[in-house]
Parts: sequence; C-alpha cells; structure tokens
Amino acid sequence: MYTNYKQQFENELKEIKDSGMWKEVGVMEGKQGAEISVGGKTLLNFCANNYLGLASSDELAKAAKEGIDQYGFGEASVRFIVGTSLVHKNLETEISNFFGTEDSITYTSAFDANTGLFETILKEGDAVFSDELNHASIIDGIRLCKAERFRYKNSDMEDLEAKLLEFRARIDAEDATAAASRGRKPRLLIATDGVFSMDGITAKIEQICNLAEKYEAMVMVDDSHASGVLGKRGRGSVEGLIDRIDIVTSTFGKALGGAGGGFATGRKEIIQVLHQRSRTTLFSNSLPPMIASAALYVLKNYDSKFDQYRQKLIDNTVYFRTAMEKLGFTLGGDGKHPITPVMLMEEKIASEMAKALFEKGIYVRGFTYPVVPKGKARIRVQISAAHTNEQMDTAINAFEEVGKNMLILN
Ligand SMILES: *Cc1c(COP(=O)(O)O)cnc(C)c1O
Repeated sequence: MYTNYKQQFENELKEIKDSGMWKEVGVMEGKQGAEISVGGKTLLNFCANNYLGLASSDELAKAAKEGIDQYGFGEASVRFIVGTSLVHKNLETEISNFFGTEDSITYTSAFDANTGLFETILKEGDAVFSDELNHASIIDGIRLCKAERFRYKNSDMEDLEAKLLEFRARIDAEDATAAASRGRKPRLLIATDGVFSMDGITAKIEQICNLAEKYEAMVMVDDSHASGVLGKRGRGSVEGLIDRIDIVTSTFGKALGGAGGGFATGRKEIIQVLHQRSRTTLFSNSLPPMIASAALYVLKNYDSKFDQYRQKLIDNTVYFRTAMEKLGFTLGGDGKHPITPVMLMEEKIASEMAKALFEKGIYVRGFTYPVVPKGKARIRVQISAAHTNEQMDTAINAFEEVGKNMLILN
C-alpha cells in the first residue's frame, strides 16, 4: 500500500527543501571538540553544547569504561523490573547532593524526563503555566497531560501573573460541590527553561518563585543549558533558589558530560511519584550504566576538577563577546551565558553568512524562522571552555572578513 503514500512524502520533502528549511547534517569523522573533522575538512567548532569541553574527555571515557567493566554493556530492562544498578542509585544520590535537593530520578534523556513529568503530576482540572519559549520537550510533555494550559509571553511576569490570577479566581469562585468533585485541590505548576536556548537569556526564576508563592503554584525549571554552566558553583540558573523550586530537570548531554542522559530532581514526594508512575521510566530502558558511571564521575569531581573549566568558559565568553561587539556586531544574550547570538535579522543573510564562515573553516549554524521569530535570524555561536584564545581569534577574524564582504560591517 505504500505506493499510495510515497508521492505524499516526496511532496513533503520537496516542500521542506523549497522553503529553505532543509537541514543539512554535518557528519563528524572523529571526536566532538573545539576542532572537528566534517567531510574531510577540519573546522573550528562553535555550535556544540560542549560547554566545559568534556565530550571528548579521556577521563570521562575511562569512567564510562569502568562502568562497562563493572555493570556490563546494558541492563536489558526498565528500572523497576531489573534495570536498577548500584550506579543508578549512587548517581541519584549524587545528583541530590550536587543540587541540594531531596531526591532524584534518572532518565535516558532530558527529553524523557520532561515528557514523563507533566502527565504524571497533573490531571484534568489542574493548570500549567508555560513560557512561550520553552523547549520542545516541555511543550510535548505538557501536551500529554490533561491539565489546562496557559502559555505566557517570554519572561513576561505581568502576563504570567494575569494568567495565574485568572485561574485562581476561577477556582476560588467554585462552589463546594464542584470543589468536592475534583477529589483534591487543583494543582498549579509554572514551567520554564532556566536558559532560553535561542537567546542565551536566563529566566526570571526568583520572580517566578515569588509569583508561585503568591498564587500557591509549584515551580519546574528545565536547566539543561545551565547545569554546570551558570551560578557561582555551577549549579545552574536555580543556584541559590533551589529551596523554592519544586522540580528541576536537566541533561548530562551538555555541560555535564556530552553523551546523554537526563534527570529530574527536587521534592522527594514528587520524585517518588515519578518512580512509581512516570511512563518514560516505567516503559523505557534505564540509563546505560556506562553513561551513569561517567555522569557520576562528573558530579563527584565537579568542584575539584571541572569547575575551573567553567571559569575558563566565562573568560572565553567575555573575550569573544568583547571582540565581536568591538567589531560592530549586534549580539543577543545577557552576556552571562556562553550562547552568543549574532543578530543578523534577515533570514538570507544568516544562512549565507553561516555558509561563508563554513568555507573559512568556522562551524556555526544560522537559525531562521520558524526556530526563531521572523526577521530575527541569527547565527548562534556557542563558546566552550575547550576553545583557545587563538581559535577564538581565528573565528573573530573570519566573522570580520565575512561581515565586511557582506557589507554588514563597515
Ligand atoms: C537540550 C535540551 C533538552 C534535551 O536534552 P536531552 O538530554 O538531549 O534529551 C531538554 N530541555 C532543554 C531545555 C534542552 O536545552
């Protein structure tokens, strides 16, 4: 029967190509790092989430190998049947120690942590308030739950408050029978990314916590781009506020390793409910022990070994931004996060510039509509602790040359 559908799919693929949204995949022939090899060409890599440069770390590879030696290749089971090893328990304890939370649960990805979260803790009659720029996995996770959805404007606290007020007022006006028919008091949950990844801007977590207190809501933060990156101790955008946040999800696929793996950490009752009911843990294999083992190694040694890379990351970010601003580029971001959007506005300019930089050996990606709003096209440069000053200079010079050729710079 496929013949009936073949043409449809072909048309769809053509549409993607015609609209300029086709994603060309660059295939790496070696390790992920500041320097990579793609299509036989050596490139300076400025588009990975390899913030601390751990993705190709020999130390982490060794920790992963030790995980294989001790626990074997895989568990061939979900957590609750026979897929929980000592390394999972140890990793979960370490996650809680690291973030200062009560309890934790690992998933095979942050995407799974998010899609397994909302429908487990919210039901019909509850409400979730979600920032419009939240990551796709939060959006999908929320889609799976039956709670009422409120989408507030990015980091707009007035809009968030208006929506909280609207829902609160409605519940407070309910009569006793309606309230009793719910079975329990309705739950309110505010969900936000810790850092909005297209902009490199940190969410207003403290203000969100204040509103949550005022309207009796819980707070969930996905700190995937911030864990190991932000905060005085690298605990992320939630650092210093963790007692006021009920659930944090994050990844081991970015700063804290680079291979994969995710987790949720926070209030112990919520974590226990996730262990009991979250579908992405009940019906999906446990985190491979080699990855759990490497993740455990990162967290255990973060303060003594890896935090110094974070300092280098901060220095690199300042170095790159200062030079680019001096050249006359308009940069997005708040300057604190290594995501450095070079704002070019026009879609065509962003993709042409990324192409020209590629030709000069700089690997960056242009982001255009619909990933970012129309007329807000950009090249998202991601700085890593693995970049040397010399490599950054090469990138800056290439930006200058291309910028002048394309008449973006004077
Ligand atoms: C990268 C990212 C994820 C997905 O992480 P994985 O562990 O690779 O699934 C989820 N949420 C946010 C905010 C992210 O930036």
